[in-house]
Amino acid sequence: MLEEIPFEQDISPQNETDPERAPDLPDQDATPPVFPPASSDALEDARPGEHITWTQRPDENLFAGATYKTTEPAKTTFELIQDAEILKGGVVLGPFRDDDEWQLAKWLIKHVGHTATEEFLKLKIISERACPSYTRKTDFFDKIDSLPGGVQWNCKTLDIDGDLPDLNKDPTGATMRCERLDLWWRDPVECVAELIGNSAFKEVMRYAPEKLFTKSEGGSEVINQMWTAEWWWEIQKRLPPGSTIAPLILSSDKTMLSNFRGDNSAWPVYLTIGNISKEKRREVSSNATVLIGYLPIPKFDCFDKNTRSLAKYRLFHRCMGIIMESLVAAGTSGQKMVCADSLVRNVWPIFAAYVADYPEQCLIACCKENRCPICTVKPEERGDHQHHPLRDVRESLYLMQRQQDGEKDAQFEDAGMRAVYPPFWANLPHSDIFQSFTPDLLHQLHKGVFKDHLVKWCTEIIGKLEVDNRFKAMPDHPGHQEKPKLPHRPT
Ligand SMILES: [Zn+2]
Repeated sequence: MLEEIPFEQDISPQNETDPERAPDLPDQDATPPVFPPASSDALEDARPGEHITWTQRPDENLFAGATYKTTEPAKTTFELIQDAEILKGGVVLGPFRDDDEWQLAKWLIKHVGHTATEEFLKLKIISERACPSYTRKTDFFDKIDSLPGGVQWNCKTLDIDGDLPDLNKDPTGATMRCERLDLWWRDPVECVAELIGNSAFKEVMRYAPEKLFTKSEGGSEVINQMWTAEWWWEIQKRLPPGSTIAPLILSSDKTMLSNFRGDNSAWPVYLTIGNISKEKRREVSSNATVLIGYLPIPKFDCFDKNTRSLAKYRLFHRCMGIIMESLVAAGTSGQKMVCADSLVRNVWPIFAAYVADYPEQCLIACCKENRCPICTVKPEERGDHQHHPLRDVRESLYLMQRQQDGEKDAQFEDAGMRAVYPPFWANLPHSDIFQSFTPDLLHQLHKGVFKDHLVKWCTEIIGKLEVDNRFKAMPDHPGHQEKPKLPHRPT
């Protein structure tokens, strides 16, 4: 094992507060937070017959979730839009004439496609009797596009250089083939500001950690929300007093492909924050999870078949690095944001969790697909009842950087890593990518624990025929067990 790792730059966890150093005092304008009562759903998450009777708050000196006075009255994005509309015309209807017209527009967008919208607007009963201010599809979509639209999209064109010669361009074979693609993304820090400032989440939003217990002494701790988990407490202690943590939950799903112009396809990356209660985040219609990017999927035919897989890993990290860039500064010094309750806090967006299936976890952790993205167990050592150390961010980055420089380390091969440098998480403050993965039910429980292990053991014990017979003997409609409802969105 590597004991002392020399490092050129200070990599996560960064700038840990020195315990000897006197704590920085928050702004003189900072007001200590007022904590809401323990959430009512906490009662449901305790065991039957138990109730949350004791809530522990962070140390007062931490000023966790403190609010700040400002010279101007603080307004949420929604309030600013409302003010601007009132200044324009006195009625908050944007480009629409009246509420009826707005209701029709909402219905058309939700239920009617482009072609049918044009046909609908041309119907005489609509154009001559209802007379909406939009008479053609183009007018209608111009009005929709002029509505205030939240965080802007950015586009960056990337060139990827392959390793196969482009003989059409250069018969000597000296020029390599390349591919051009577009990366679309939205600034995650601005998306955090939009989520934390969304007044629709005012009642379900928390700005500081807490601990819930069934008794003040000797009771069981109830962990039921992001703010009741240990992680938030630990990070809060590392940040200066007066900080409010916005724990970022990212998710991406390669099976959710979107097709764009031509034959280009891309897969989506989503973001939400742990300040919003898990019940609200799970509601698909709540818009608590926002789309922050589309990762392009090129053809990769400029690469040799043997190097294509590594090229995919590298492109993923290059794109995610561009998307995540603004989080490095915001997670190092915080940013003042107007929150859902119209109060200003010093918000530190910190990457906390990544929801992805097992193959994507390997892609994110930069390990081979037959390895564990969390610990260093070797494929043949799984199930041997030994303890295997967790993957370490600093050590992994050190080995990946050396690989980049052409060094061949045995530890790099032992840990089953892929030669990517820098991975997108290299400079994200206070984050540990290997501790951020949530379980993948399909690959890890159903295909892993059940199919690869339990079924194999049972078959060995009672034989293939008996296992088949037992399965056949199960009634078609057991009736007594309802199919479990799996959350569609990350919690
Ligand atoms: Zn493991």
